[in-house]
Amino acid sequence: MQQTHQGTRVPAVWRPRGRRRIAMVSLCVAVAAVAGAFAGVSTAATPDVRLAKGSYVPGEVLVRFRDGASASGVAAAHASAAATVLRSFTSVSNLQLVRLSGLSVGGALAKYRQRSDVLYAEPNQIYRIDDVELTPNDPFYASMYNLNNTGQTGGTPDADIDALEAWNVTTGSNAVYVGVLDTGVDWDHPDLVNNTKPNAAECNGQAGQDDDANGYVDDCHGIDPLNGDTNPMDDNGHGTHTSGTIGAIGNNNTGVTGINWNVQIIACKTHDPSGNGDAAALVECLQYMEIMKAQGKNVVATNNSYGGCPEACGFSQALEDAIASNMDEGILFVASAGNDAANNDTTLKYPADYFVPNVIAVAATDDDDLLASFSNFGTNTVSVGAPGVSVRSTVWNNSYTYLSGTSMAGPHVAGIAGLLAAQDPSRTWSAIRNLILAGGDPKASLTTKTITGRRVNANGSLTCARRKVSGPLRPLPTVDGQDPIIVAALNINCARGARAPTVTITPGNTVIQLKDDGRGADLAGRDGIFSGRWNLLPCDPGAYTLTYSNGKQDTTTVTC
Ligand code: CA
Ligand code: CA
Ligand code: CA
Repeated sequence: MQQTHQGTRVPAVWRPRGRRRIAMVSLCVAVAAVAGAFAGVSTAATPDVRLAKGSYVPGEVLVRFRDGASASGVAAAHASAAATVLRSFTSVSNLQLVRLSGLSVGGALAKYRQRSDVLYAEPNQIYRIDDVELTPNDPFYASMYNLNNTGQTGGTPDADIDALEAWNVTTGSNAVYVGVLDTGVDWDHPDLVNNTKPNAAECNGQAGQDDDANGYVDDCHGIDPLNGDTNPMDDNGHGTHTSGTIGAIGNNNTGVTGINWNVQIIACKTHDPSGNGDAAALVECLQYMEIMKAQGKNVVATNNSYGGCPEACGFSQALEDAIASNMDEGILFVASAGNDAANNDTTLKYPADYFVPNVIAVAATDDDDLLASFSNFGTNTVSVGAPGVSVRSTVWNNSYTYLSGTSMAGPHVAGIAGLLAAQDPSRTWSAIRNLILAGGDPKASLTTKTITGRRVNANGSLTCARRKVSGPLRPLPTVDGQDPIIVAALNINCARGARAPTVTITPGNTVIQLKDDGRGADLAGRDGIFSGRWNLLPCDPGAYTLTYSNGKQDTTTVTC
């Protein structure tokens, strides 16, 4: 089996123009100006202020009464706003912090400001530290629309993964490990060098000795099972590019920045200079990730930006088994969807199409959040979209370039997995997968092209709250009805599984209760994928509609 690369070289069609944003400084100035505007607000009825979400504490108001305000008047004021006193202050007389139980902050302010005994009422503003380091100083950052789209490429501002916002939460950790199965990594590239030393025992050990007794001699940067050695140096550039998106060193005044400023890339060379690799090398790499994890390293995911040839010739049972073993060890498998502009639901494409719960298949979007013209898609098989057109990153020989392909989209997902593990090292593979899927931004261009209809958003994943996503996974559009048919659907609320859905299949009105118990048809328990078996024996060919209890619908044609 040949696994060819899914990156295509494109000319650098644009150059960095916009200036770097010094976002935090301007944010703080804005907050101070807003807060200042409230000082000395008169008691006259003031129109409701426009409150910027995130600029104040929800459900709280600061209110100061005039000297001489009566106790009954104060009580009546609080009653009118349905507020209770949290704190009274002495240095500023008659000032109280109150908690609201019904009204919005804006509504409560209006109530207080109507009263003559209220001197002023204002939101409990949030003030951020004046941190200017979160916008990285890497000179090419301004050209990276995929991380922070300011319209610098002519695209749509905010058609990006909100990396700038995510870096307020975490910029990654050198205690998080991401495997890259690719053409190797230029591990002494100045923008990668400290993030490509996953095995300190060997990097600092004796040459020619297996210092950590893991079966590989001198595997400081990873291994090269394609050539049977432990030097995964890149000889193509592709693997260095995918690695740079995941974890080029950030804020080092050099080149680009990765989604993770700090991370450890485990390079595993599976592909030759012309971009061809084989299943045996891939299986050994996935095994190597388990060896590293058994040493106590938090290996969160592998990135797999390659695919088999068209049709089912890309299928390898051994590779599927190795991916399933990775799931058992808590390692995600991020796969590019493919560059054939094809529907992966009907033209199966591996490894993206392996039906194993730790697989995340990634389509490519552009700087307008449109599906890239070359990108594969599939409402049952392709999980999410991520930027994959003209992505700037590191390449072989200490260089940088723009590449396009679903190969470039996948590393955005692997990179966000790294941030999620840095934020909370105890997260399970399924929690990280679900946060990536639920935290994305809904995009019309992806609604009928992916399971979730979302383009990933690093900040949305790191700050996920009450975001439900669901989508049918199986059966595929055509299915053989001579055996029981697997029915499965994703149904999650941020990191966790949501309520177990039922599915009603017509004609026939067959009702199946799907379960997330890890038994029988369900491949992993409590992971947010709910599964069941549809027994249509004796086989009855034709078109069927599956209607889920959460309102989703899917169709399939049964053949016999
Ligand atoms: Ca070793
Ligand atoms: Ca850099
Ligand atoms: Ca499950």
